[in-house]
Amino acid sequence: ETTETIEDTRTTGSVETTETRPAAVEVHGVHKWYGAHQVLNGVELTVQPGEVTVILGPSGSGKSTLLRVINHLEKPEVGYVSVNGEPIGVRRQGARLKELSERAILGQRGRIGFVFQNFNLFPHLTALDNVAAAPVATGKLTKPQAQGLARELLGRVGLADKVGAYPRRLSGGQQQRVAIARALALRPGVILFDEPTSALDPELVGEVLAVIKDLAGSGTTLIIVTHEIGFAREVADQVVFLDEGRIVEQGPPTEVLDHPEHERTRDFLSKVL
Ligand code: ADP
Ligand code: MG
Repeated sequence: ETTETIEDTRTTGSVETTETRPAAVEVHGVHKWYGAHQVLNGVELTVQPGEVTVILGPSGSGKSTLLRVINHLEKPEVGYVSVNGEPIGVRRQGARLKELSERAILGQRGRIGFVFQNFNLFPHLTALDNVAAAPVATGKLTKPQAQGLARELLGRVGLADKVGAYPRRLSGGQQQRVAIARALALRPGVILFDEPTSALDPELVGEVLAVIKDLAGSGTTLIIVTHEIGFAREVADQVVFLDEGRIVEQGPPTEVLDHPEHERTRDFLSKVL
């Protein structure tokens, strides 16, 4: 009887938490055009705090554009994105959306980490300074504080012995792990990954996926574009299949990957598996 009472309390507690905490990311009716070409066509997506979302889809389906819209590197013509309940790049004015200043947008972008396919490290900075640069540039930390944090984060991605190395002396897998530590340095609420392992030699993919899996296990909110289906099955809370700018299918990996409903999803999976 005592045990039952405790379980009841826990259930009630978790329901209340879910209701009161804003979603980590909400994409509200986003449409995006490049000239006459519509690249995103009414995308709606909700990512809960601590959740891992994997985005799949053929080349050209709009995956990178969707990540860039979430980070406001691209402005959608229709719709907007919220992070922790706060609209990114815009504010509501009655029924309309007004652009925020560049400065305000830069501040918001610091709360969203981005890891690119090609690492994009600063070639003239050591691993340590690559990770320490943003917290110093944004005035969040002093240089010694940022370097302390950078050491800690490089240790977390297994690179404690590479703090003084320049990117050209690191393997692709090591460079990408530095890039992940750099994304963590601003303590973002969400980290976006755009095909983080597709530029790597096959034998280096595992070390990067292991670091991402560790982040997933630590409760960081992650949105990952990848073609690594086995990885998606292991870490994803939800899998989203994007095709021609629309979400065709979404749900837990056991549904989308193992029992896809749509012909396009089945066709795509048969090509990448
Ligand atoms: P994915 O990441 O799924 O391969 P993208 O989001 O990169 O797809 O691109 C979606 C479509 O938008 C493609 O047809 C691409 O050619 C086009 N596109 C992407 N970026 C631009 C841009 N800056 N200007 C014009 N067209 C673009
Ligand atoms: Mg892409």
